This record gives sequence, C-alpha cells and structure tokens, in this order.
Amino acid sequence: MKYYSTNKNAPMATLHEAVVKGLAPDRGLYMPERIPTLPASFFQHIEQLSFQEIACTVAEAFFGEDVEKEDLRRIVCDTLSFDCPIAQVDENIYALELFHGPTLAFKDVGARFMARLLQYFIRQEDAGRVNVLVATSGDTGSAVANGFLGVEGIHVYVLYPKGKVSRIQESQFTTLGRNITALEVDGVFDDCQRLVKQAFLDPELNAHLRLTSANSINVARFLPQAFYYFNAYARMKGLGKADKMVMCVPSGNFGNITAGLFGHEMGLPIHRFIAANNANDIFYNYLQTGRYEPKASIQTLANAMDVGDPSNFARVYDLYGGSHERITAYIGGATYSDDDIRETMLECHRRTGYVLDPHGACGYRALREQLRDGEAGVFCETAHPAKFKEKVDEILGADIAIPERLAAFMRGKKQSVELSREFEDFKAFLLKE
Ligand SMILES: *Cc1c(COP(=O)(O)O)cnc(C)c1O
Repeated sequence: MKYYSTNKNAPMATLHEAVVKGLAPDRGLYMPERIPTLPASFFQHIEQLSFQEIACTVAEAFFGEDVEKEDLRRIVCDTLSFDCPIAQVDENIYALELFHGPTLAFKDVGARFMARLLQYFIRQEDAGRVNVLVATSGDTGSAVANGFLGVEGIHVYVLYPKGKVSRIQESQFTTLGRNITALEVDGVFDDCQRLVKQAFLDPELNAHLRLTSANSINVARFLPQAFYYFNAYARMKGLGKADKMVMCVPSGNFGNITAGLFGHEMGLPIHRFIAANNANDIFYNYLQTGRYEPKASIQTLANAMDVGDPSNFARVYDLYGGSHERITAYIGGATYSDDDIRETMLECHRRTGYVLDPHGACGYRALREQLRDGEAGVFCETAHPAKFKEKVDEILGADIAIPERLAAFMRGKKQSVELSREFEDFKAFLLKE
C-alpha cells in the first residue's frame, strides 16, 4: 500500500516511510491510496469474534501488504493488552470505554501500535537507535511514553512545561525511567513545541541523531483507532442494537473520529457519526456554513479537545472529496460550553450513577439531544474520569476512586532533567546523550 499527501505535492510514500516521517514533505497528512473493504461475511458473524480477532482482520486489510502476517498479529495483540468494552449508560446510549489501557485514555491504542510498528521497521534498517521527540501539555506525553516504554532501539524524550502539568499527568511520564527521559522546560507548552520543531530542522543534530516524532497525525497512530469502532459495532450487534447505530466522538484534533470514518469506508455499517466539540467549535461551524475557519483555541474543562485548527480536518475533507454535502450528510456536530459539560456530568451521575469525564460528557450529551427514533447511540468515553479527579470531584460533589494503575504512577519517583527554553541548551543536551 502506498500513501499520498493530502496536499498532493509530495511523492507517494511506503508505509515504512510514512511511519518514520510522520508528516509528508509538503506538510500534508499521509492517506492510504485506497481503502480496503471487508467482506459482508465478516460483518455477518462479527459479534462472535473477540476484539483481538477483529482488530487483526482490520489491521491485515490496511497493513497486510507491508508487514509480515505473524509480526502484524503480534503487534496487534501486544497493542491490545486491554479491552475496549461498551457499558450501558441510558436506555439506548452506551459508552465505548477507551480508558482501560496503561494511561487510561484512548491515545494508548495508537501510541502502543505506533511504537511497535516503528520498531518493526527500524529493525529492518539496522541503522542505530531512533530518538522520538514529543512535546506535551499532559496527555500525549503519557500515552507516547508508556506506548514506547521498553521498546528496544527507541528512546523517547518528553518535553513538558515546568509547573504547568497536573501531578497525575506528570507522574505518568516522569516516573518511568528506562528508555524514557522527561525534560522539564522552564517555559510554556509552546516553548516545548518550538524546541521540538527546531530540533527536526537542525542539520547538525540530524547528522548525529536519528530523530522522529510520534505526532498524532502519524498514520500508525491514527489508523489503529479504527479497531475499537469495529469492536463497538460487534458488541452492539451482540445486544441486537446495531441496526441503526450512531457513533458519537468527542473531538479535538479529529484523529479519533477520522479512524471511525475510515472504518465506515471499509464497510463497517455505522448509521451516522456525530463529532462533539467543546467551545472550540471550528468543525461545528464548518458543518453549518461550509467554511473552515481556524481560530485560536479556547481553554475549556475538556482540555484535550482545546484545538483551534484540527489537523485531521484535512483527512476528513480529503476522504469525502472536499464535498460539504457528503460530509454533512454523514457527520453531525455539537458544541458545548463548560457549563453544559458540568450540567451533563451532574445530571448523568445523579440519574444513572455513571461517572463521565469532561470529554465523554460532550459525547453523551450530543446523543441525548440528537438521537432519533430507532437509533442506538455509542459515545467514546475517551479518558477515565479519575484522570481529571479534582475537576470531577468538584462538579459531582463526590470523591471518585483512583484506579490502581493510576495510583501506582503517583507513587513512583519523579525523574526529570531541567532545561531552559533556549534551543542551544536543548541541542547541547541531545548531543551529549
Ligand atoms: C486527545 C483527546 C481527545 C480528542 O481526540 P482527537 O483525536 O484529537 O479528536 C478527546 N478526549 C481525550 C481524553 C483526549 O485525550
């Protein structure tokens, strides 16, 4: 399978190249040249298959030409060391719980898959250690660090702004050790991102070190997220609820929902999608007006969705040939203020006992408001509420339990290297490594 750039101004890439490069040279996003479809027979009995079996079939369709069958199965099984089950919340509304992985958020799936696929490819090159640089304001760093933890041949540097990341988040990437180094930058998130970008452009650094990113736009991070949409369908089918299944995705950079849309193009019979936004309503406005107008992001309660120019919009646009009509025919939208989010979390908890996190709350609310007769809805619960314990406790007036694997991070010993926000310091540090 070859991959083209959404900007259509770069040569086609192999999967190997697309995974190592991340972004195409014309700064576009890689897209598979065709979308394989799965046979109707697969969907007929899908409810009898396990999550891992389903995921192997989906992975083979996309990556089977480029990765040895046995290796691919091993990569998929290693990635999915945890389940993505559905849980009933309301009569016709189910949560697809994507928080059972090591860092309790859906990004674990993509990060773990990418780490293993990157390792598979660099082993073939035999060209020495690869260094992954990642800037984080919290969530991405933990998913990437844990996804790559212990993966031989790859070292990860996580850059994060000193004092600007919650203790729970910080503990998830500063306590790991091994092939993970946390760099505590005396600055803000934008400084971290600037340091990473500058490093990729620095000829001297690149002559000494093999650098790559684990950005969420990487095909190896976003495509595997399709696995759990197939699983949601299978489990709903098992309940007799899949005839008109609506999938609702709390969205920020739109990687997660794009993977679901790819699933649909592969034949997955999802009736329609809803992208639920917080107050960052760029996609919502696009649906209303047909104009895509990025703006500066606004800080909200659901902060992993605070994106003012969602990268993967380019993929959605490309997937539907740039047609506003086709996009609006299949994808609906919603946008919610922080007050809406609080109200939804409280109402849902009081009435059903289910604890939503602020991101999942947007998804749940959109289904409550927009589900039509005969439809059943599934929303992605993208993170465990305990990741946002302070906020959630305050909103619900509760003291929610912290899962053991999160508590274990918090007991770990923090190890980090302090750095200024000057590029020269960062560069000198990397050259000494
Ligand atoms: C990253 C993230 C999102 C947004 O996902 P996208 O793929 O960027 O749309 C939503 N919820 C949580 C908890 C996240 O970490």
